[in-house]
Amino acid sequence: KAKDVAPSNQADANGNGVKISHPERIIDPASGTTKQQLADYYETVSPWVLSVLKDRPVAIVRAPEGINGELFFQKHGDKLNIPAMKFLDKHFSGQPAMVVNNAKALVGAVQMNTIEFHAWNATSHDLEHPDCFVLDLDPDPSLPWQRMIEATQLTLTVLEELGLTAFLKTSGGKGIHIVVPLSLQDSWDSVKTFSRAIVRHMAKLLPDRFTAVSGPRNRVGRIFIDYLRNSNGATTIAAYSARARPGMAVSVPIGRDELEKLTGADAWTVHNLPERLDSLKQNPWQGYASVEQVITDEMRSRLGLN
Ligand code: ATP
Ligand code: MN
Ligand code: MN
Repeated sequence: KAKDVAPSNQADANGNGVKISHPERIIDPASGTTKQQLADYYETVSPWVLSVLKDRPVAIVRAPEGINGELFFQKHGDKLNIPAMKFLDKHFSGQPAMVVNNAKALVGAVQMNTIEFHAWNATSHDLEHPDCFVLDLDPDPSLPWQRMIEATQLTLTVLEELGLTAFLKTSGGKGIHIVVPLSLQDSWDSVKTFSRAIVRHMAKLLPDRFTAVSGPRNRVGRIFIDYLRNSNGATTIAAYSARARPGMAVSVPIGRDELEKLTGADAWTVHNLPERLDSLKQNPWQGYASVEQVITDEMRSRLGLN
């Protein structure tokens, strides 16, 4: 049953009566999505999204006038009075980072016009050590989708040859995110240096396909593998978060066997993702929590580090 596939242990997975004001307000004219529909989406998928966000500092993107109005990327939400939102010490940034650990905070954030949740690569259990790194494949928008699938496969192969297990998600925008879980050992600097070395290596080996340099002009006809999401305090869109883009696609974890059939990074939206989740036979990121891996000296030296 679908219920058994969803992450459990979410005692607090009901909307808990957060009242949505202006429920009929359209936040995305392209899809006609209302604020209430977005709140309902997050409540429906709350076991999934909360399992990702648990104890993880987040930044939010708010769209008080809908997605065609001004968007506010906020790392700190202490002025928003979102019910049940947790705040960490002002340990890193001088202001308290937000943590969404229950459906009340999740739906409460939507009530405050939040659309996107962006997550750190670390949790409050140990903010000094990243628990994953992310390779964010950013294509030249004119590239055929098939090139993105090939790029993802090539990157997965390199990671696999290095000895690292990785997981895939759509970005809900144009690209794919490859997430590599880590045990809490390596420092931010060492993970960033390592992820950069992977990307430089791939760009050197396959310069027609990849670039290690950001900026649209550097990726004409190619894919920039963005490793810049791996610094202390940097964020990536969280799995199961909606996007503040026309159509309201969602960032969706997929199994590796689904990659080939994937039609685009925006294949699922707030409207059709619940149906996918209901029909899954297993969690696409099955096994994520039990991966134990670290970056070894051998991996570093194979990439020309040390
Ligand atoms: P796409 O597949 O279209 O590239 P994406 O989410 O990967 O979608 P990027 O532009 O590649 O988008 O990555 C931007 C990332 O940078 C976001 O995921 C977000 O976490 C982070 N970020 C940092 N600062 C901001 C900001 N001011 N506004 C938006 N995103 C920001
Ligand atoms: Mn991207
Ligand atoms: Mn990027």
